[in-house]
Amino acid sequence: MAEVLYSSTRNKDAVVKASEAILKGLSDDGGLFVPNRIPALDKSLSELSKMNYKEVAYEVMKLYLTDFTEEELKHCINSAYDEKFDTEVIAPMVEAEGAYYLELFHGATIAFKDMALSILPHLLITSARKNQVKNEIVILTATSGDTGKAALAGFADVKGTRIIVFYPKNGVSPIQEKQMVTQKGDNTYVVGITGNFDDAQTGVKLLFNDKELEKEMAEAGFQFSSANSINIGRLVPQIVYYVYSYAQLLAEGKISEGEKINVVVPTGNFGNILAAFYAKNMGLPIDKLICASNDNKVLYDFFATGTYDRNREFVLTTSPSMDILISSNLERLIYRIAGNNAEKNAELMAALSGTGKYDITDDMKAQLSDFYGNYATEAETAETIKAIYDACGYVIDTHTAVAATVYNKYKKETGDANKTVIASTASPFKFTRSVMNAIDTKYDAMDDFTLVDELAKIANVEVPNAIEEIRTAPVVHDHVCDKEEMKAVVKGFLGM
Ligand SMILES: *Cc1c(COP(=O)(O)O)cnc(C)c1O
Repeated sequence: MAEVLYSSTRNKDAVVKASEAILKGLSDDGGLFVPNRIPALDKSLSELSKMNYKEVAYEVMKLYLTDFTEEELKHCINSAYDEKFDTEVIAPMVEAEGAYYLELFHGATIAFKDMALSILPHLLITSARKNQVKNEIVILTATSGDTGKAALAGFADVKGTRIIVFYPKNGVSPIQEKQMVTQKGDNTYVVGITGNFDDAQTGVKLLFNDKELEKEMAEAGFQFSSANSINIGRLVPQIVYYVYSYAQLLAEGKISEGEKINVVVPTGNFGNILAAFYAKNMGLPIDKLICASNDNKVLYDFFATGTYDRNREFVLTTSPSMDILISSNLERLIYRIAGNNAEKNAELMAALSGTGKYDITDDMKAQLSDFYGNYATEAETAETIKAIYDACGYVIDTHTAVAATVYNKYKKETGDANKTVIASTASPFKFTRSVMNAIDTKYDAMDDFTLVDELAKIANVEVPNAIEEIRTAPVVHDHVCDKEEMKAVVKGFLGM
């Protein structure tokens, strides 16, 4: 099988193997690693339709991680997609109101980040072994809520790794905080920062770039790595469920072999929809890639005008995991539509970090015809949750509701009748209050866990384990520090 190598989106000469790209996360020049070609699926759709999730995962991931042996990759897949998920199907599909909801929230933290973060630790330690890295890998993460918990759950008790998560002490929801501070695992460490998310993020970046600390850590047998969504080890596992969803529709006779479908993705950092774009380019019959934004509609404006402009007010919405003004993974698409031109991409990214905006050329814009972008307001998002619940009893979360709203706008505008998969990125139990308020304002007076029970009743589903656990779980992390103390905290945890 021909090897796939990875190069930086900002420097075509920075070429590494898959395992090295996973270990490094980001290229030294600040660029993202991209495959030098997008491999084609080498199994037919009808063959894929007879496979389970793990088998499809192997067929997709082997094409990208070409320096992993079959045994290594299968071991990673088997360690990831196991009883941590509450269904053997891993990513089930629910048909509701004229669309197929691909539920990506059946993992440990009931949001789609689990799909990649349950396998990334195994890809990382395998990559470390392959590259003769003897150090223990220390994952350092700043989180505004969801990523931190998903990374903690993924790395907890994984041998050869430790994970340290910093979160803004007063900047996450009570349920999110409870999820993190009750995290078990001797190799986990959760610390609240007296500051906001930016303080935590900036502090983590400073630690990553601290050469002196790097040297001291190496002497003590440690090295940092990142579980950030720009890691290729997070992108590749996300391609799998698009292939799997198509295969399932085919297996169930909902589509015929080769029939084109649309995919709708509620988008923040552009990682999830980029995975769908890669799936399409591998030969999966996807027609439109529908990019759904909330009020932070920087991507909608980009697709409409060809100008990316982050100079705008940051809006706090009920879909907080999409409250993002710099969609990091978009850089991989920009690089590609620039003709895999690292120099052109680097120029645009320099403009983005300088003036906060850039314009793509007409040539580049012409290559975006696979995409359709739109957005949902807060009121529209709430109306969609209620409308779908009223029509069929199915309850979706706020992020998924942004996608469903945009899909309705798309259908109205175009009349397109393709079968459509909507990426359902979080369980409604993760955003219970917003979801229940959308259904009926009477719920506003109830406390968080009463709401959870009410949701279980009206949706006729069991309360997920992830929520059940934190009702009674003891707090095991109660550290709080100033941002100036982060380095000392890290050294303390590592016993240095
Ligand atoms: C992270 C997240 C998103 C956004 O995904 P991107 O890959 O960043 O575009 C959407 N919904 C939920 C629930 C998320 O956690």
